Amino acid sequence: MTDEGKLFDRVCLIGLGLIGSSIGAGIHKWGLADHVSGYARSQETRQTAAKIGFIDSVHESAAEAAVDADLVIICAPIGAMEAIAKEIAPVLKPGCILSDVGSVKKAVIAAIAPHISDNIYFIPGHPIAGSEKSGPDSGYPELFVDRWCILTPVEGTDKIAVEKLRKFWLALGSSVEIMTPSHHDSVLAITSHLPHLIAYSIVSTASDLEDVTRSEVIKFSAGGFRDFTRIAASDPTMWRDVFLTNKEAVLEMLGRFSEDLSALQRSIRWGDGDALFDLFTRSKETRQGIIEAGQDTAEADFGRDHASDKPVEDQ
Ligand code: NAP
Repeated sequence: MTDEGKLFDRVCLIGLGLIGSSIGAGIHKWGLADHVSGYARSQETRQTAAKIGFIDSVHESAAEAAVDADLVIICAPIGAMEAIAKEIAPVLKPGCILSDVGSVKKAVIAAIAPHISDNIYFIPGHPIAGSEKSGPDSGYPELFVDRWCILTPVEGTDKIAVEKLRKFWLALGSSVEIMTPSHHDSVLAITSHLPHLIAYSIVSTASDLEDVTRSEVIKFSAGGFRDFTRIAASDPTMWRDVFLTNKEAVLEMLGRFSEDLSALQRSIRWGDGDALFDLFTRSKETRQGIIEAGQDTAEADFGRDHASDKPVEDQ
């Protein structure tokens, strides 16, 4: 964390699930704004958010929550972002920064930007932090600490506004990287989207096996399967939207992955131990690099903290 103190008078969060609640809690913990307003689709979530207290005021509509805010962050599923942008656009205060946390950037920009007038600074963002958990009670202020947040401002975006948003994420404990939306979508396709697709697919394959029973799959899951099931427990709405909106980059990475998988298949069939050994050795080095970069721990169980059950997996 940086010791920034207050950065905004009023921040508005639209979508109060894992990411929205963590941002709200972080703003309060580090005193980054005087007031946090919020809106979520259901009454139930709005009530839970008010009860937990990670926002200061809960509103009956996204537009009502956004009035007078200096920073508005859309923390809803990607598929809902266009309608939200359309609704809040007329009430946004001139000079306000509008951002989002969507896991895909090109499609989100295409959905939001056309509705936003020139006197608003639209700066798309994506915190690379999260978990398979969702909802307003799954967040916590340290979610973004020692994680990356990627900002993808379109060309010509006001530098002062970008710097202000960068400081906000630094104050939440993240490191910030700026890149183009298209590069973001390629990087995330291989580091996050494809691994989720593989996890969903392997869990589905195991469930459909006929000669291995479901109870055996569960009983012997520590053999590797268990860690896929955690990723495959991620929110279906969020991940449906990711694959629908980052189609191009995911299909490109999937093509490469399929070719590499076929090569592995061949090595196994031909008993090519050297090829297998070389590939597994290189993979171990990648894992070591992630640990050295502070993005996971070397402990068994993928560094999972069972005491608090706080996840370490990034999305
Ligand atoms: P979540 O826990 O499921 O929360 C989503 C929130 O959005 C809920 O409060 C939901 O309200 C609200 N919402 C849904 N439709 C809405 C609408 N039309 N208008 C206003 N609010 C609406 O999801 P999340 O994990 O926080 O993900 C939110 C965003 O963060 C997604 O765009 C995702 O791509 C991105 N992201 C997620 C992760 C992750 O690991 N989870 C990481 C980085 C970025 P109800 O509860 O009332 O339905």
